[in-house]
Amino acid sequence: MLKITECPTCGSDKIKRVRRNWTDIDHGKRYTVPNLRFHECPACGERVYGHEAMQKIEASRPLGWRHDTRKEGRSVSDVLVKIKRTILAGRYRFSEKARTEMESDHLSRWDVAESIINASRIYKTLRSHGPRRSHSREKLYIIIGRTLGGVAVYTKGKFRQEGGFEVFYFLVSSKKAL
Ligand SMILES: [Zn+2]
Repeated sequence: MLKITECPTCGSDKIKRVRRNWTDIDHGKRYTVPNLRFHECPACGERVYGHEAMQKIEASRPLGWRHDTRKEGRSVSDVLVKIKRTILAGRYRFSEKARTEMESDHLSRWDVAESIINASRIYKTLRSHGPRRSHSREKLYIIIGRTLGGVAVYTKGKFRQEGGFEVFYFLVSSKKAL
């Protein structure tokens, strides 16, 4: 829980931590988050929400915070947007192969995540057969991007279902020699 002693909007030192049922309207539907902790300024009415409060609010929204994916995935750039959003949400995994490559190339998971966020296009999309039993065709995405520090990173990954969410699974992630 973050500690705030001064209102970020009006500067009042009267801002205080509160805990109460919190309501809002999402797409015309009223919803309530019980016992939400946040800061409120009695002087100007400003409210400040921390990470935990935002998580609770997002999880309580009747339509969910997840993006409408029906319109996505049609073009390459939409897929890249979807990959970036999945990474930003922290829903990514590394295969043992990818982890080993990162270790020998001195790449952290942040380096790999940054290279994806900075990438402007998908370098190549490959189709492969999934596991023999499922008969499903998977798409593998090769993305070459740079970290904020300028290091080029080569990754190969795919989407996987995990607990009702799609996660991005890195199969390969290594430094790219350019
Ligand atoms: Zn204030």
